[in-house]
Amino acid sequence: MKAAVLKKPRDRFYIEDIETPKPTGHEILVRVRAAGMCHSDIHIWEGHFGPIRVEERGVRFPLVMGHEIAGEVAEIGDQVRGLQKGDSVVIYPWIGDGVCKKCLVGDENLCVRGTAPLGILRPGGYAEYVLVPHWRYAVKIGKAYLDKIAPAACGGITAYNAVRKASLEPGDHVMILGVGGLGHLAIQMARKIYGASVIAVDIREEALRLAEKLGAEYLINPSKAKIDEEVMKITGGLGVDAAIDFVGTAATFSDALRSLKRGGRLVIVGLMGEYATLTLPLLPMRSIEIRGAYVGGLRDLYDVARLVEKQIISIETSTYPLEEINDVFERFRKGLITGRAIITP
Ligand SMILES: [Zn+2]
Ligand SMILES: [Zn+2]
Repeated sequence: MKAAVLKKPRDRFYIEDIETPKPTGHEILVRVRAAGMCHSDIHIWEGHFGPIRVEERGVRFPLVMGHEIAGEVAEIGDQVRGLQKGDSVVIYPWIGDGVCKKCLVGDENLCVRGTAPLGILRPGGYAEYVLVPHWRYAVKIGKAYLDKIAPAACGGITAYNAVRKASLEPGDHVMILGVGGLGHLAIQMARKIYGASVIAVDIREEALRLAEKLGAEYLINPSKAKIDEEVMKITGGLGVDAAIDFVGTAATFSDALRSLKRGGRLVIVGLMGEYATLTLPLLPMRSIEIRGAYVGGLRDLYDVARLVEKQIISIETSTYPLEEINDVFERFRKGLITGRAIITP
C-alpha cells in the first residue's frame, strides 16, 4: 500500500510502498478515504510537544501520521462482531489498555496507563490502509459523510467534550476564544445543542466572519478591544457563564478569568504551554471552576458522528490527494489552510 512516511522530525514525507497489514482476531483493516490534518501533527513533525521531545513520549520514526481517520472496512479478523466489509466508519484513535475503568466506560482518552494513539504511537491514516487494533474503535457513519467526519476523531470530540464541560444551560453566555478547527465546531455545539449565546474571540477578521456565519451573536477582536471590557458591555456587567479557551496562553487565561460571572466555568483546551498567575482567593470568593479538557471518549465520537449525520453541525474541510501531502502540510504549518485539511489516500 502507498503511505506518506515521516523518517525523522522536520523532514519531508516520502510516499512509499509499504506492506499492507493483515488483521487477525479483533482487528480490522480500514481502507482510508479521509485523514484529517491536526495541529498535533505539527508538534510531532517538529519533534517536540513544548519542552518535551516526542521520543520521550514514545514516538518512533519512521512514522505514518494521521489520527483523524474515516474509511471503509476492508478486512476483518475472525473475532470481529457487528462490522462487515464495506461498512463506512470513523475511527477512534485514542487507544487505551482497554481494561481500566476509564476504558471500560468509553473514556479511553483518560486511560490510567496512557494511550497509544493511531498516527502517533502506531501507524496512522496517511496511507491507503490502517490497521485498527479492535473493532470497538470503529463508529459507523453514513457513506456520504466520510470526508466530513474524519476531523471528528480528534477535533470534533475535543470541541464536544470541552463544550460539555462548560455545563451550559439555555440562555447562558459562553465565550469561545479561538475560532479555528475546534472553535468553529464549539460555536455550533454551544448554540444548537445547549441554546447558549456565543461570544466569539479571535484576532483574525476572517475567523470572526466564520464565527458570525455559524451563529455567534457577539464578536470580539482583541487586537481592537479589551476582551473583559467588551464582555461586561455585552452581559450588562455580569460576565459570561462559561469560557472555553482553545488558545491557552497566559493572556487568554487571564482575559477569560476576568470575564467570568460568579459561579462561572473556565474550560482550558489550548496547549500553547505558557505559565499563568492566579489570584487564588478569587476562586472561592467568586465560586469559579477551572477545568481542563483533553480530546474525548468513544461515546463523544459516537455523538459527534450523529450530529454530523443529522447536519446539526458542519465541519469545514478541504480535500487533497496523498501525493500533495508535503505541499499541504507546509501550508497548514503556515496557517494558510482554512477549515480542516483532509488527505484522501
Ligand atoms: Zn489531533
Ligand atoms: Zn485504560
